Amino acid sequence: MTVISNVTCPGCGSLCDDIEIEVENNAITKVRNACGMGESKFLGYSTHRPQKPLIRKNGELVEVSLNDAIKRSAQILADASYPILYGWSNTSCEATRIGVELTEETGGIIDNSTTVCHGPSVLSIQEVGYSTCTLGQIRHRADLVIYWASNPWSAHPRHIERYTNFTEGRFRSSTWNKYLSNLGAYKSRRRMVRAAKLVADIQGPLSGITFAEENGKHLPHALFENRRKMIVVDVRKTRTADIADYFLQIEPNKDYEVFQALRTLIQDKELEVDSVGGVPVETLEELADVLVGCEFGVLFFGVGLTMSEGKNRNIEAGISLVRDLNQYTKFIIMPMRGHYNVTGANIVSTWQTGYPYAVDLSQGYPRYNPGETSVVDVLNRNESDAALVVASDPVAHFPREAAQNLIKNPLIVIDPETTATSLLADVAFPCAVNGIEVEGTAYRMDRVPLPLKKVVESPKTCLSDEQILLKILHEVKRIRGKGSA
Ligand code: SF4
Repeated sequence: MTVISNVTCPGCGSLCDDIEIEVENNAITKVRNACGMGESKFLGYSTHRPQKPLIRKNGELVEVSLNDAIKRSAQILADASYPILYGWSNTSCEATRIGVELTEETGGIIDNSTTVCHGPSVLSIQEVGYSTCTLGQIRHRADLVIYWASNPWSAHPRHIERYTNFTEGRFRSSTWNKYLSNLGAYKSRRRMVRAAKLVADIQGPLSGITFAEENGKHLPHALFENRRKMIVVDVRKTRTADIADYFLQIEPNKDYEVFQALRTLIQDKELEVDSVGGVPVETLEELADVLVGCEFGVLFFGVGLTMSEGKNRNIEAGISLVRDLNQYTKFIIMPMRGHYNVTGANIVSTWQTGYPYAVDLSQGYPRYNPGETSVVDVLNRNESDAALVVASDPVAHFPREAAQNLIKNPLIVIDPETTATSLLADVAFPCAVNGIEVEGTAYRMDRVPLPLKKVVESPKTCLSDEQILLKILHEVKRIRGKGSA
């Protein structure tokens, strides 16, 4: 048995790099320190996995040799005049680098899943800039943590434990014990009410008892204590809201208004309304005091903000709020990136082309105009004539018309798993799993690069996606008379 420590988990954008793996006979037998999501990724990555390349013949996907699949893929891309190369968020930076070169060679568009998640954040950051830092700095220094329209307890399960309120920082203590005592008090309150209901036959729901304090007119005293605090702002109560010191529920699609109201209050101006976004102005005034009064605040935001009405304007308002707060205290803002290397996909694309996503290389130089050069828009206009999808499942996630246009044309998929997209592909390559069977580099959500480790060998028939892309690139060049295979 071998024990491998300090493994980086390719489960989500938190990229926890303290995972310990036990390996026996080339199989992972135990995973330590990971959350449930990470553990199931390490333990279940090889369940039901395809192992041989497939090509569609007479409507059926049939197994073929790697060489045949490479040749067919290269021919599809070499024949295409406007292919799209999409995905890249669940693979290594090394693979994305080859993807950019392949796009340049084939004169197509390269786009990553930013286009359907934090694209508006990228646009806003390019528009107005932002103040940010690393998760390490947040861990050691932040005394006020706000999760706005994001739910890390479910989507990034160790984020709070590793980087914010439940971690022991150099200058800030963990609030885990306080959470446990609140939880105990909450459970006993529920038990008492349940008993009282049984004895006295009291009518009414138990739901009147809440764990986190929420939308009262006045903020709880806990928010003014000299310790680390957590506030959750969302349109509905999430599991993260349950563990926060305060949960502020706002009306759907009113984030922009609430941000601007807070900006107004921070500048000591008055609001001539009673409430904004369903929140009484008195509450917003107290919240503005809490924001100004912290020593180091951080605003994490999720796709609830980028994909609701307002989109990039919401983010601009959030960034502007943070900029205003920096006149009084230290405040930073950070997007909660979901896929483990979506940040890396943006960074590599920017290195190579100057732009982070939705890059059109059909003219021989990079063009970037999200809304026109983003893959969903190209597909909606039915302009592309072939596609290569790497480690992504657009058929399951794109709008219906875009997905229909994607599968109309020849489609190549490189993915370790069987997905809705790979089932509809003309060529499907099962590849080795990055971060488990292949080493590489990935960027955490705070733009810190981390090494992905190889902990087991992949099946002989499954090359890494980087190797497959390189072989396709060489074959495309050979077909076009620019090189040899
Ligand atoms: Fe893996 Fe994300 Fe869980 Fe960390 S929080 S162990 S990166 S899935």
